[in-house]
Amino acid sequence: YDPKKSGAFSPVGSGFPASMRRIRGKRIKAMSYNNENIFAKILRGEIPCDKVYENDQALAFKDINPQAPVHILVIPKGPYISYADFGQQASDAELAGFMRAVGEVAKQLGVTERGSRILSNQGEDGHQEVPHFHVHLLGGKNLGRMIKPIDK
Ligand code: AMP
Repeated sequence: YDPKKSGAFSPVGSGFPASMRRIRGKRIKAMSYNNENIFAKILRGEIPCDKVYENDQALAFKDINPQAPVHILVIPKGPYISYADFGQQASDAELAGFMRAVGEVAKQLGVTERGSRILSNQGEDGHQEVPHFHVHLLGGKNLGRMIKPIDK
């Protein structure tokens, strides 16, 4: 196994961040999972969280900066950057376990009767801050319309 050939290794001083790769001579930006993101640290137990639910595949905890009376983050335990990454790369067991966790949390917090919302920000346009896939579960008040309509 040669990590340099596999592309999993970026030599120090090469001038390229680990996320820059060359494909057919073109420099491209290929996102790779960053193990130092804050949710990875929570999963490793290096940073505490206010846990509300856990199963084999997912962890749910309170958002530190709640935008609604109920604001929970549900994250997979595996290293996935975004919903798109998760949806493409995760196993069936991970996909199922994650979605079960979302449902269990909603039930546990009693938000489905009056209504609630899940959303997942991705990338720059989506204003994703933490590069570990997470779903926001929001509830406990009237949340208004989905997003602000674009200016016409
Ligand atoms: P996003 O823009 O979807 O990436 O949102 C990231 C969310 O993570 C924000 O709502 C933050 O308030 C939340 N957050 C950041 N750090 C922590 C933390 N240590 N514990 C709980 N929530 C956090």
